[in-house]
Amino acid sequence: MTKKGVLYIVATPIGNLEDISLRAIGVLQSVDFIAAEDTRHSQKLLAHLGIKNTLISLHDYNERSQSGELLEKITQGASLALISDAGTPLISDPGYVLVQMAHVQGIRVVPIPGACALIAALSASGLPTDRFVFEGFLPEKPNARRKALEHLKLETRTLIFYEAPHRILESLRALVEILGGEREATLARELTKTFETIRFGTLAELLGWVENDVNQTRGEIVLLVKGAKAPDKTELTAESLHILKILMTELSLKDAVGLTAKMTGIQKQLLYKSGLDLSKS
Ligand code: SAM
Repeated sequence: MTKKGVLYIVATPIGNLEDISLRAIGVLQSVDFIAAEDTRHSQKLLAHLGIKNTLISLHDYNERSQSGELLEKITQGASLALISDAGTPLISDPGYVLVQMAHVQGIRVVPIPGACALIAALSASGLPTDRFVFEGFLPEKPNARRKALEHLKLETRTLIFYEAPHRILESLRALVEILGGEREATLARELTKTFETIRFGTLAELLGWVENDVNQTRGEIVLLVKGAKAPDKTELTAESLHILKILMTELSLKDAVGLTAKMTGIQKQLLYKSGLDLSKS
């Protein structure tokens, strides 16, 4: 039986062409062919690296049909590297279908890590990095964007968005309106390139800055926003007392406290003490 080949997921630079690993170069040289989003764009990178290899296009629109054919080649023993126009494939880029199908078909998938705009931006953002959510691009239509932001209003983890230059102002305005102008945020533009700019401030400050400098609406952008303040678990709220009161009419004090703690995140001890006070009154 022919030994199956390997599917490599290879990160390429997000601007500065030196941001590619030796391992990535080795893999791009040695695989049987390379699947890329825009073969003309990737050809330039390969030429810069002095690599001659066969490029095959893999776009969002042809991903399903192309993936079948590519995996067939791997099954027959060929090895394939997947790259995207910039950074890490599959991160707001094609490749998900290919990788998912590869796993289903028992093909080995090997990541070759490297540049990724969201991680580069986060590492230099000055915002909490221990827990974060990557939201990709916000929806284009105002109503859908508003809905998405309403949904994220109480999210406590750092929010990361990719942003198109022509939409940055609209997005900042919507963020100020829905999350509030006081939230800390970072705008990371043109990372690793000549005009790299990383600006930290409140959302209102960032909006004012971008409104007054058209240069800030150019190039590639990652926008990061500090998460919402976590609810204070050591302080009773009117809402938590209200819930506790209602539950105590139907349940034992212990169960009512347990359920209220689960719903509100407030410490059981505090709730228990208030429950006892309520039952006495
Ligand atoms: N796969 C890529 C990665 O690993 O980051 C992302 C591809 S996505 C189609 C392109 C978006 O990534 C851009 O619109 C921008 O939001 C962000 N991006 C890519 N390169 C960037 C850079 N050099 N500086 C800032 N943002 C960048």
